[in-house]
Amino acid sequence: MGETIIALADLRYAAPVPQVPPTWSAPSGHLADRLHRPLRDLRISVTDRCNFRCSYCMPKEVFDRDYRFLPQTSLLTFEEITRLARAFVAHGVTKLRLTGGEPLLRKGLEDLVRMLAELRGADGQALDLTLTTNGSLLARKAQALREAGLKRVTVSLDAMDDAVFRRMNDVDFPVADVLEGIRAAQHAGFGPIKVNMVVKRGTNDHEIVPMAKHFRGSGVVLRFIEYMDVGATNGWRMDEVLPSAQVLARLRERWALDPLEATTMGETAERWRYADGAGEIGLISSVTQAFCRDCNRARLSTEGKLFTCLFATRGHDLRALLRSGHSDDEIAAALAPIWSERADRYSELRSQADHAEPGGERRVEMHYIGG
Ligand code: SAM
Ligand code: SF4
Ligand code: SF4
Repeated sequence: MGETIIALADLRYAAPVPQVPPTWSAPSGHLADRLHRPLRDLRISVTDRCNFRCSYCMPKEVFDRDYRFLPQTSLLTFEEITRLARAFVAHGVTKLRLTGGEPLLRKGLEDLVRMLAELRGADGQALDLTLTTNGSLLARKAQALREAGLKRVTVSLDAMDDAVFRRMNDVDFPVADVLEGIRAAQHAGFGPIKVNMVVKRGTNDHEIVPMAKHFRGSGVVLRFIEYMDVGATNGWRMDEVLPSAQVLARLRERWALDPLEATTMGETAERWRYADGAGEIGLISSVTQAFCRDCNRARLSTEGKLFTCLFATRGHDLRALLRSGHSDDEIAAALAPIWSERADRYSELRSQADHAEPGGERRVEMHYIGG
């Protein structure tokens, strides 16, 4: 029975095993894709499970008691994740983000953080090591994560109003506990903490101003994310997307805001600062203003498949490489052609009227690939 479940789980999302090229040279710390975009950011999904059922990500009707999550044996071990991360770093990755699913559900996550915190970039510098969480377990874990070497955290929170938030997470989880998690993270010394709010028109858009009011002046950077058509289960509709331009307009009715320059290439958020010095906000406009042109992100699924776009239907089975005895050099060599041949720009194409959906294959789910 166990074996049947493993076989089914492993069949999810076609994933050829990458080939090790017959000859290769050592990674140079710089790898560009077909659109000249460097590889800089690796998002690592450490679990496909979650204790929330946000309707835009893991709707309850699909992710119910019968849903088969990946079995423990399918997951990459911490050693395997660290080996792969090292290969990515050799190719120029400077930022690692732990995500999921809910990453804090993965047992002993601090141990993985400790292992990743020891890695050094091609320039000898420590990496930007960060985590995205729904905040439900953060009050308990913030201190240990900080001590293990985690540098930053992003917490997701979609409303200040308790009833709205409980409805959106769909497991009746209270706002107060997420806020306590954010306080614990501040207390542990994380900073600046970012808060992600997914805005769904007609569901929580009336919470834009209350959220801004709460986090203004707190040192926390609030980021508004356009509701995306990621995966195949959330029943996405364009009329439920509130364009960032409208989010900004609503905020500007209330406060004066000035634009800020992007600090790094490939930054997803457009940044604005309150003119009165009460901090900054971010707008992530993945639907209305695609940012594929600078996209330097790769994603590693919970079971070790590499995806070069959030909207991909196919990954590359790195776990098979790891588990068939290849050396670190061979694994790094196998990664190079995957990135060099990348031409993904789904969000840009989405906005073109003649763009057809990829031929009948299921797009990967966000909880599995990592947000
Ligand atoms: N469970 C963690 C959390 O919620 O922060 C980490 C994983 S979650 C998939 C990562 C991020 O993706 C969260 O900030 C979440 O709000 C965002 N997200 C999930 N589904 C989305 C969608 N359909 N559109 C926009 N953002 C989405
Ligand atoms: Fe869980 Fe995060 Fe997805 Fe919500 S967005 S269901 S918290 S993985
Ligand atoms: Fe990057 Fe794909 Fe998103 Fe474009 S659609 S920004 S290529 S992940």
